[in-house]
Order: sequence, then C-alpha cells, then structure tokens
Amino acid sequence: MSYQHLIDQQRHFFNTNTTKDLSYRINELKRLKSVLLKNETRLYEAIYQDFKKSEFETYTTELSIIYHEIDLAVSKVKKWAKKRRVSTGLANLPGKSYIIPEPYGTVLVIGAWNYPYQLSLCPAIAAIAAGCTVILKPSEIPSQTAAIMAELVNENFDPKIFKVVEGSVKETTALLNHKFDKIFFTGSAVVGKIIYQAAAKHLTPVTLELGGKSPAIITKDVNIEMTAKRLVWGKFLNAGQTCIAPDYVMVESSIKETFLSAIKKQIEKADYNVDNHNYTQIINDKNFERLESLIDSDKIYIGGNCNKENRIIPPTILTGVDFEDKVMQDEIFGPILPIIEYTNINDAIKQIKTLSKPLSCYVFTKNIALKNKILNEISFGGGAVNDAVMHFTEQKLPFGGVGDSGIGNYHGKYGFETFSHYKSILQKSFLIELDLKYAPYSAKKLKWLKKIIG
Ligand code: NAD
Repeated sequence: MSYQHLIDQQRHFFNTNTTKDLSYRINELKRLKSVLLKNETRLYEAIYQDFKKSEFETYTTELSIIYHEIDLAVSKVKKWAKKRRVSTGLANLPGKSYIIPEPYGTVLVIGAWNYPYQLSLCPAIAAIAAGCTVILKPSEIPSQTAAIMAELVNENFDPKIFKVVEGSVKETTALLNHKFDKIFFTGSAVVGKIIYQAAAKHLTPVTLELGGKSPAIITKDVNIEMTAKRLVWGKFLNAGQTCIAPDYVMVESSIKETFLSAIKKQIEKADYNVDNHNYTQIINDKNFERLESLIDSDKIYIGGNCNKENRIIPPTILTGVDFEDKVMQDEIFGPILPIIEYTNINDAIKQIKTLSKPLSCYVFTKNIALKNKILNEISFGGGAVNDAVMHFTEQKLPFGGVGDSGIGNYHGKYGFETFSHYKSILQKSFLIELDLKYAPYSAKKLKWLKKIIG
C-alpha cells in the first residue's frame, strides 16, 4: 500500500467521526494492552536479541510504562475529552464560553531506538486517546523490536486506525513529504531539525522530544551514599543509552574524593554484567566506536576496558575533566560519566549554561536556598531533586524538553493535550442585543463601551 493511499484511508476514516466516540478510543486502547500482554514473552525476546536488554529492565522501563499510560488513558479519557466551561466577559453577556478538545486527525509518530517500545507506543497511545489515527515509524536500528511492533499492530489493528510502517531514512523522508495533522518525533536534535523543516512545508504542528547533556549537580551537604546509589542507577540503566541519563556530574570539590569512592562502591555492588542480565550492550558498532573514542585513557577513574566483539562498555568514570574535553562536546548517550569539580556554584552554573538547554537536570543537595537557586537559574526540560531519571515515571508531570532539547511534551493528560486542538467557542443567545458596538458610532456609545469593556 502506498503511503498516500494509507494516509487517505486514515483521513477518510477520521472524517467518518468514529474516533470522536470515546468508547471506540477505549476499546482500541484495551486492544493494544491485551495484544502486548498476550505477546509479552516475544517482546522480551526481541529486545534481548537487539541489545541484550533484560526482562527486568524491559518490564520496568518499557512495558510497565506503556501499561500505565494505557490504564490512565482508559480511566481518564472521558474527563480529558470533556468540554470545559470558562467565564464570559461583560461584553458578551448573555452568553457562555467553553473549550472543546478536538483530535488533530491523522498523525505521524517517529520513534527512537533506545527505549524502542515505549518511545514508539506511548505517543501512539496518547494519539489514540485523543481520537487521532496513527502511522507509527519506529526506529529501524533495533530491527527485532521494530519487526515485532509492526507484526503485532498490523495484525491486530485496522490500518485506517493504527499502522506501523517500518523503514529508515528513505522511508521516513518519503512519509514526511505527505501532509499530516501532527508529527510527534523522538530522536536527535540533528534529525529533529529535518523533521521540523519538513513539517513546516505543510504547516504541520510538531512535538520534538530530543536530547542533550543533562547535568547532575552535587553540593557538599548531601547523603553521599544515597546520591551515589541513585546516580549510578540512573546513569547505567540501559548502559547509559537514556535520553535523561545524567550526562556529567558537577561535584563540590570538598566531597569529590568521598563521592568518587561511593560511586565506585555502588558500581561494584550493582555487578553490571550482560550475562547476569544486569546490563545491556551498546546498540551497534557505530555507537560503540563513537563512545570508545570519548574515553580519554589518562582520565579513567574506573572502567574503560571496552569489549568490541560483544559491544560492551563497562561503567566508566572519568575524572579531571573540563568543558574543553571531547567528552563534553556532545550528548554522551552511553555508560561514560565525566566528573567535574567546582568550588563556586555561580561558576558551575555559568559553565553549565554555556551548553544548550538540556532535557534534564538533577540537583543533589539538602540546602534549600541552593536548590532554589539552581532550579531558578538553569533552563532545562524537567528533572529531579535528590534523584535521577525517576521524574519520567510521574504521570502527572509533563515530559519534554526546552530549546535544543525539544518542543512540547507528553505523558498522561499532557499526551492527550499534545494530540488535541483546543477549540474555543463563544455561544450567544437571541434574547437581547445592545446597539452599542454597531455603526453609526457616537461619543455617547464610546463612553458606554469604555465603561463595559474597560
Ligand atoms: P535519530 O534522530 O538518529 O533517529 C530517530 C528517528 O528518526 C528514527 O526513527 C530514524 O529512523 C529517523 N531518522 C534518522 N535520520 C533521519 C533522516 N535523515 N530523516 C528522517 N528521519 C530520520 O535518533 P536516535 O539515534 O534514534 O536516538 C538518539 C537521540 O534521541 C539522542 O539524542 C537522545 O537523547 C534522543 N532521545 C530523546 C528522547 C526524549 O524522550 N526526549 C528519548 C530517547 C532518545
């Protein structure tokens, strides 16, 4: 089926208004959950083949998130889709004002490879909940997960409602030549710009979920053990291939040595090992080589011994790093953690702000004034105080970037809003009509109008 034919089919179906029916949306969402549940074992196998991601991490960081998004949408969509009354100004009385959420229409979702299931399916869930039809193009890099998503969706959904199209740059470029009503993209800023330009040709609204160098700032008055434990988990989850992983650490000089020993202890305790199902591979040779080239052997505190054959890079801590180093030029997106020390928080903030606005920022401190200062002075998508990565799991928090880390957000109700247009309506009655606004104008009418509309 040509892309044009597929889009026409979806648009035609959308225009039948079937998707406006909330029970239709709930049924489709339930169908997706039951298909995933029935095929869970195959989903685990596919992702393990792609980059040895364990069942534990696949459940906790992919499937459970998808199931929660579906459950929330099923239970809340009636509330989210309700028209909302707002007050009406004097000039329009008697009358009432309200806002009707309406689905955008036929949408394109483009996924990234690092959390292949949830980064593709969560936007699709939000789009279906909002009443859109969906064409999903997952990342081609984890080929087994892309294939199983295509199989499960295409065998269980009508293509006019939800269709997975597999492919890489060529296919995505071809899709982008067509007009969609919304494009939701997750991936790099470089490709994000391509998507934005393609969307602009059709004036299509976009959500861009991008990445960046997310800092973790650690002040001297923290619980060092707990800070190290949470940071190590957030960094080495998925072998650091997480868009919101702490990219680098800024630590106050006076606690640097104690902090480094605590980090080392936590890494040893976690026993990161692919064979133990505690760790994942680097997704492909290209990323392996890119990451290997970022490791400056003179600066290794622990790790660094890469295994090319198995594409394993152990948790690697670099010390004595500064902002000029190669590892500080771009998002790392792998298990390498540079540690930079600071003595003055103002200087640290200044340095962080020389880089693009990150997707996340993590502040570890017991000092409330310092916490407020950092949250106030650094712009970033979202983050956590005294934790890393976990803000992603809060369904009531919108998830997205700012500046170079993205445009727009999703998760829970925010996902519904991302795929909805909010249509504003003023409704008048035929009861009365004052002459004031109508010609012929007069000084007297103007005087009264000024009193009414201010
Ligand atoms: P990517 O930009 O290379 O690819 C993303 C998608 O775009 C894929 O589906 C790919 O097929 C497609 N694509 C690639 N090149 C294209 C082109 N020239 N034209 C059209 N489409 C193209 O990103 P990636 O390597 O899959 O993911 C890594 C990046 O994504 C990192 O920067 C990471 O921080 C970011 N990311 C962000 C989030 C988030 O939620 N904000 C989540 C995961 C990853």
